[in-house]
Amino acid sequence: MKQKTSVLFLFCLLLAFSLQAQGQTQIIAHRGYWQTEGSAQNSIRALELADEIRVYGSEFDVHLTADNVAVIFHDDTIQGIAIQSATYDEIKDLTLANGEKLPTLQEYLEKGKTLTHTRLIFELKPHQTPERNQEAARTVVEIVDRMGLKDRTEYITFDMDAGKEFIRVAPEAAVAYLRGDVAPAELKALGYTGLDYHYNVMLEHPEWFEEAREAGLTINVWTVNDPEIIRQMVMSGVDYITTDIPEEAAAIAAHPVTTIENI
Ligand code: MG
Repeated sequence: MKQKTSVLFLFCLLLAFSLQAQGQTQIIAHRGYWQTEGSAQNSIRALELADEIRVYGSEFDVHLTADNVAVIFHDDTIQGIAIQSATYDEIKDLTLANGEKLPTLQEYLEKGKTLTHTRLIFELKPHQTPERNQEAARTVVEIVDRMGLKDRTEYITFDMDAGKEFIRVAPEAAVAYLRGDVAPAELKALGYTGLDYHYNVMLEHPEWFEEAREAGLTINVWTVNDPEIIRQMVMSGVDYITTDIPEEAAAIAAHPVTTIENI
């Protein structure tokens, strides 16, 4: 019994060292830290709260209105109005679930500028045409750069045209692709710095963990809300986990070994 215990201890120690060697998985609050009193998805308050809990990053979603105002919201429509075909004036007074006014990118980044910790994980939502996707990417990079937040912003997108435009106009920025349909080596050749795929995509392509590492790409997985899968992803050595339960995920990432049950 004693021998079994010490073998187990040694195993845990080795595992802990190997995880440390790879670097600890960092946590990204999906749409900010919104599952808490007074917050709401993609609200400025959710960004503040993500900063308060000191996770690596806070993710948010951006659309351009028809008259080119960048606003923060996840869905294509807000209260029945299609954001990308509306003018800003038509949607500017709509509110989020916590009573906040729909934030513009400008307002959101103004708050971001006052925060000291969280990185801004900027998801540009797909727009109607390849040209519009490229234009949207150029527009938002210009705003981020003008606000002096170039060094704290990382771009993610499902849209390949937008992704390529980010790589072209923000060559020093981290840019990751979300759709999950491109192999790591190909992403690397296109100039991406990371992949940001649904965790099921990575489970279906276990060889992509190694391929991404060999290519020097970062690995981010979304949106992992099951503690058991969070633990599994941490053990796989992913760089980032995007989650709606950032505090719990951070605790698991800090101590994945001690939380293993029934070894
Ligand atoms: Mg998003």
